[in-house]
Amino acid sequence: MLKIMNIIPEEIKNLEPYKSAREDFNKKGLLFLDANENPCGERYNRYPDPLQHKLKNQLSKTTGTPAEKLFLGNGSDEIIDLVIRTFCRPGIDNLITIEPSYGMYEVLASINRVETKKVPLNKNFQLVPDELLSEVDDKTKLIILCSPNNPSGNLLKFSDIEKILQSFTGIILLDEAYIEFSGSEGFKGKITEYPNLILMRTLSKAWGMAGIRLGYAMCDPEIVQILSKVKYPYNINSITQKKAMQVLKKPQRKQKTVKHINKEKQKVVKILRDLNCIEKIYSSDANFILVKTKNYRDIIHFLKERGIIIRDRSNLKHCEDCVRITIGTKSQNNKLLKQMKQFEKLKT
Ligand SMILES: *Cc1c(COP(=O)(O)O)cnc(C)c1O
Repeated sequence: MLKIMNIIPEEIKNLEPYKSAREDFNKKGLLFLDANENPCGERYNRYPDPLQHKLKNQLSKTTGTPAEKLFLGNGSDEIIDLVIRTFCRPGIDNLITIEPSYGMYEVLASINRVETKKVPLNKNFQLVPDELLSEVDDKTKLIILCSPNNPSGNLLKFSDIEKILQSFTGIILLDEAYIEFSGSEGFKGKITEYPNLILMRTLSKAWGMAGIRLGYAMCDPEIVQILSKVKYPYNINSITQKKAMQVLKKPQRKQKTVKHINKEKQKVVKILRDLNCIEKIYSSDANFILVKTKNYRDIIHFLKERGIIIRDRSNLKHCEDCVRITIGTKSQNNKLLKQMKQFEKLKT
């Protein structure tokens, strides 16, 4: 059995964490004169719960994952940064990720002076597990995967991800930011089987809460404890904790928007597919589509002139001439489709 303690750098293992003032946070009726807060302030004068007990209990109910297996971050981005900082030593260790994928993995690795090895997906944007595993060396501490992948939009094959889980003895961070749109359970059921798996999700996409900045990881409690030691004591602010509590109590609302967006996605794909300026639309398990065009520069420019912004992804691996389009509301999508038909009429 893999031991997490064996893959943590010594400096982190020996780290004596900052003891936040509020150890007895959950106890009611105490007089708190320990944290130099201003007693005259109103509502938000107190520091938030550093370990977010209430919010984790709610998230546990919503996700069915025990609270001790949950770690919360100021967006998934904070979790990615923490995982890199915790498990990779600057200037020594490296991580492996896939290409094309989410740009923040490499940015955060670079900021932390950790080398990124990028292994291309195949032309169908699927893993080639043997190729990826052949890049592992004795300084590889972390593999970052993304499923459904951004910008390609597809789920990675389960059997390929499992192959990597079975072979790699470092940490595997699996980013499932878009999993709710896929209809798949993802790897939630696998965190007990693989103690080195960190599954990451967010309130930014399906939950529609990008503004409150809340991401969460599901993983072995031992990893939760280590990440909790490394994070800023008050990384999730009171307003976010409060708002997230409300939102997580209403998963039906999330389900409804996911359904709506998926239905809209089908419609957008069906109409765009018939346009001459569109070469190909990749099948998507997320709330966006990757579209191969005949003239991406003209399309981006044309739409921009008409107040519609889409994302140029043409410089990424296997994404030549591609743009990424987020699925909006019905009326937003109709605006996009109207302008795309207009483009077709005028430019072809
Ligand atoms: C949008 C996105 C996230 C979410 O990031 P947050 O910091 O939680 O908003 C994470 N991973 C990928 C691949 C994304 O596209």
